Amino acid sequence: MVDGNVDYTFLAVDDTSVDDQQAEPWIIGIIDDEPLVHQATRFALQDVEIDGRPLLFLSAYSGEQGYELIRQQPEMALVFIDVIMEREDSGLVLVDRIRNELGNKLIQIVIRTGRPGDVPEEDVITRYAINSYRTKNELTRNRLFIVIATGLRNFSLLQSINSSRNSLRSLITAAGNILQHRSVKDFSNAVLLQFCSLFDLSYGCVFCVSKFPSDGPFIYTKMDKSVTVFAASHSFTQYQDKDLESLDLPIFQVAKQALAAKRHVFEDDFGCLYLSTSSGWEGVIVAEQGQHLQHLDREILQIFCLNVATGLENSEYYTHLSHAVFKDKLTGLNNRTGFINQAGIKMRSQRQVLCLYLLDIDYFHQVITSLGYEFGNLILKKMASVLVELFGEGAITGRLHSDVFAILVADSKLSAAEVATKCAQAMNIEGQSIRMGLTVGMSVSGDKTEYVDDIDIMMRRAEMALHVAKDHWRGSGEVFNESYEQESYQNMQLLSDFREGLTSEQLFLVLQPKVDIRNSQVIGFEALIRWQHPKRGLVPPGGFIPAVEKSGIYYELDLYVARALCRMLNSYPQLQAPVSFNISAKSLNHETFVAELMAVFSEHKIEFSRVEIEVTENALIHSEQSIARIHALYNAGFKIGLDDFGAGFSSLAYLLRLPLHTIKIDRGFVGEIVENAKSLTLLEGMLAIINKLDKEIIVEGVETIKQRDLLIALGVTQAQGFLFYKPLSIEKALALLDDQ
Ligand code: C2E
Ligand code: MG
Ligand code: MG
Repeated sequence: MVDGNVDYTFLAVDDTSVDDQQAEPWIIGIIDDEPLVHQATRFALQDVEIDGRPLLFLSAYSGEQGYELIRQQPEMALVFIDVIMEREDSGLVLVDRIRNELGNKLIQIVIRTGRPGDVPEEDVITRYAINSYRTKNELTRNRLFIVIATGLRNFSLLQSINSSRNSLRSLITAAGNILQHRSVKDFSNAVLLQFCSLFDLSYGCVFCVSKFPSDGPFIYTKMDKSVTVFAASHSFTQYQDKDLESLDLPIFQVAKQALAAKRHVFEDDFGCLYLSTSSGWEGVIVAEQGQHLQHLDREILQIFCLNVATGLENSEYYTHLSHAVFKDKLTGLNNRTGFINQAGIKMRSQRQVLCLYLLDIDYFHQVITSLGYEFGNLILKKMASVLVELFGEGAITGRLHSDVFAILVADSKLSAAEVATKCAQAMNIEGQSIRMGLTVGMSVSGDKTEYVDDIDIMMRRAEMALHVAKDHWRGSGEVFNESYEQESYQNMQLLSDFREGLTSEQLFLVLQPKVDIRNSQVIGFEALIRWQHPKRGLVPPGGFIPAVEKSGIYYELDLYVARALCRMLNSYPQLQAPVSFNISAKSLNHETFVAELMAVFSEHKIEFSRVEIEVTENALIHSEQSIARIHALYNAGFKIGLDDFGAGFSSLAYLLRLPLHTIKIDRGFVGEIVENAKSLTLLEGMLAIINKLDKEIIVEGVETIKQRDLLIALGVTQAQGFLFYKPLSIEKALALLDDQ
């Protein structure tokens, strides 16, 4: 007999073989070279049943044949083996091959020998796990029965231990496969897959889970009791994601029944496992033709359900947390993290031209201030739906923070300005039609040759474009341009140098005299900042104040100037004339500014009334809080001057609301009065009003005698300008006072 080409003629199957109706027989092998032994054994045990199962004898007549027989019959429960057959040690060699080559550890081996002297050594019996040893004259029915009955019991016991071990092993594998899934969806599909393979089910199954935990943590605000079909196989896939309540096929009836009774249900056509988690999620797994589940080991089912419940709870929380981490609660779009995450993946995987738009709603803060947060939220929600509608499902959308939205979309043909226009359509909110302006910054990933696959770079570029657009093209849009990057780098360098300048005292004050224009007598000074840059030399304020105002350092600069001024006044007591200094209107947005400024003057023991604070009249001081802070400074005793009046945002209404000592008329006016009659008329009117308000007036930027004479004719008495003096060092300013 050759491997793979088995000769079955030696397999003498018992002719009294079991009919189909009977219980499965125990398969017993007889391996002996004496045919008589076979006959005697069969004869002795004919009609015997053990545990209700008949015996089926299979014979082989040599060690080699015996090996093949056992290999072909893995279900064989017990085998009698003769020690001496074709060779002296055939029996023992066979035993060794059964245990080691076939790896069959379950089959019960009974060694039989004709001669008592052939008893194998004790160590051989243990080594090969020989279960019993008998001499051939023990072939009586009684003795054989006892040997077989004990052997078969042992076999069943081992078999059930083995099958439990196997089920446990597949259970552990199944659990591993189930638990690695994080989203509830993937998890549920994995559960069905493992469920079918673990319990050998090839029909349709469904897995239904409650939407919310009945006893979950407060993060779940909703608590409706609906149950959803999370996963389904075979003919039931069409019901996936449906509400269980709405379904009435028998399989779903069983599911509802199990949920109502809170236990497993086994019916003629279905098997249904019920499971619940510690936070009160409930689920049922129902299988067609799964009624045999009820015959399975309860503990195995229990462990399976427990694993599924743990996994379900974990994946529910994971899904919830990742939603919380990546989604914006208000609009349902991605939040910044979610957007960058998804956009990053898209950019790295697609390598096609992608456009990133950042949209900023214009004057959104004013909307909130005047119409309230609730209304603002409605606008944001509406804007989110406008974006989704405009860019479709394929785009990645997000709300990055307050009123800034982002969209990443493949090869859009829309320019930044077009996006701004399209999104600024009228929205209907609570019956009101509202049209919000938008400013858009855009960046493009580039084509294949210069593809940018880094979302951080794309974001930075779109942000730069948005900044530029906000400065120059509000209500419209701008696409990133390489020069912005350079500008922004230089700006960053400048600010970094400026911070260094503040700490290493590279900044100092110069004084520009204010004069009585009728006699050119010095009546006071304005302190102006100068920066002695170690490499760039003397930098005028125009070279750094705009950048400083955009960053947050203006606040530190203003306090720095206040301290420098106090030190100057203390070091030069001969400087008796009034001095004014400038602050950034933005500092007035800070709650602590007034107190900190007062602290500087108090520490240096300079009376507040000794100085005048110049504030530029611009949109920034139009907030109620800023106005209140100017009042606070005024009430503390500081003199307040309104700088650059007539430039930019001038509004006479605010003149009345601000407590002012002085109004300084912007040099833009003075420049024009000589050539432009309209400017002259306007200035005349302004002077008339200010005089009525009983404020002091000073005109800055006087450069020519003509201008001066015109101003004198208009009744102006105080002025500042290059015609009289440029800003001077403290020494020169003192010398000037001395000369007077
Ligand atoms: P400002 O407060 O209106 O200061 C007057 C500016 O006009 C000064 O420029 C001064 O040198 C210049 N100026 C004076 N007379 C003439 C003239 O006849 N013709 C021309 N063309 N210019 C004249 P500066 O010092 O370059 O300051 C520019 C601006 O920078 C200031 O305008 C002020 O807004 C800001 N600034 C200056 N120093 C400080 C400071 O210490 N703190 C803050 N926050 N801002 C400052
Ligand atoms: Mg000024
Ligand atoms: Mg000015």
